[in-house]
Amino acid sequence: MEALGRTLAEDVVSSIDSPPFDKALMDGYAVRSADLAVDGGISLQVIEEVTAGRVPSRALEPGTATRIMTGAPIPEGCDAVVVIERTTFDEATQRMSTDMRLKPGSNVLRRAASVAVGQRVLPAGRVLRAQELGGLAELGVSQVPVRRRPRVAVLATGDELVPVEATPGPGQIRNSNETMLCGQIVQAGGIPVPLGVAKDERDELRAKIQQGLAADVLLLTGGVSAGKLDLVPSELEAAGVRQVFHKVEVKPGKPVWFGVRERGEEGQGTQGAPSRTLGANNCFVFGLPGNPVSSLVCFELFARTALRRLMGVEPAEPQPVRARLEQPHVARGDRPTYHPARLSWSETGPTVRTVRWHGSSDLCGTLEANAMALFPAGDADYASGSVVDVFLW
Ligand code: AMP
Ligand code: MG
Repeated sequence: MEALGRTLAEDVVSSIDSPPFDKALMDGYAVRSADLAVDGGISLQVIEEVTAGRVPSRALEPGTATRIMTGAPIPEGCDAVVVIERTTFDEATQRMSTDMRLKPGSNVLRRAASVAVGQRVLPAGRVLRAQELGGLAELGVSQVPVRRRPRVAVLATGDELVPVEATPGPGQIRNSNETMLCGQIVQAGGIPVPLGVAKDERDELRAKIQQGLAADVLLLTGGVSAGKLDLVPSELEAAGVRQVFHKVEVKPGKPVWFGVRERGEEGQGTQGAPSRTLGANNCFVFGLPGNPVSSLVCFELFARTALRRLMGVEPAEPQPVRARLEQPHVARGDRPTYHPARLSWSETGPTVRTVRWHGSSDLCGTLEANAMALFPAGDADYASGSVVDVFLW
């Protein structure tokens, strides 16, 4: 149970055959199919009864049958099971009659048909669902090695931010991004470490960044764009986080910042690519723009991808669903736009409609969305029925 939702660290190879014996798939009579190949039906002598959990004591000779229940091992000589509904039984003579004809193998599952000894049942990197837990249980695997969950620190920045429980004063708003990002981290398989709010002030920011760099990944929100108090990029670089990129052609989220701090280098930075292995002493740092939908979208596009890659889950990148627009959509702008949208499944395939949305600060506008629809850069009028890429949230 503890492995539910975790990422498998090693392949799982079966040490058993499943099923472990040839078994009946229906309640009925175990027979020799050749005995049934007679016009007008036949009658067979019933020689014993085998319920699930018991084993047959007698082999089937021509002209005989064994009463058998679903899940019970079939007797030697049997190659098919006649379902009980297609038979009659005579108490006095202990004979069963049927007019069924069966192909060999009917209603029988052969030993190892599902899984054979030595077969790889699950690959490393698989995220374990209830179904995988059941499969592991079937094979007698009660413990599996899983990947460590990355610890992801969350640092909100901004003089205007107050805790969710507080009543904002003039010019203030609540720190909603921290809660949202912690939720996204959990959904992506990480452990959130909320660090509260840092004011737009160098000393406080510096101290909190140091705290955050102890995690595997540090997410900051706010303070990465061109405002007067956007101190995050310079403070991160001062803390030895080597900038990999700043600003991406994407809407919302253009100011997003990404860098790597390699531990032990103490701010020197290195030329080589950082190790992508979790626990290899790196801290991957994302400066997400403060507008809530920008943070939401940039987490999905960049941070979630990084967390999946750190955990060895492939594919790490968001996977698009191709869907038809339910209504026309007008796209304007010079950047690819991820527009909050509602994806549905119709009889003719996936369909999507964009939701009413006032841009990157309108988080409540996204609440009826379950996905984001991608509209490439440029002005375009999309007709209803146009096919677009959609990414589920
Ligand atoms: P910034 O990226 O710091 O320029 O912030 C852009 C916008 O996002 C501003 O309106 C901020 O008030 C808002 N914002 C920044 N951080 C948060 C946060 N943690 N929660 C909610 N809104 C925020
Ligand atoms: Mg700010």
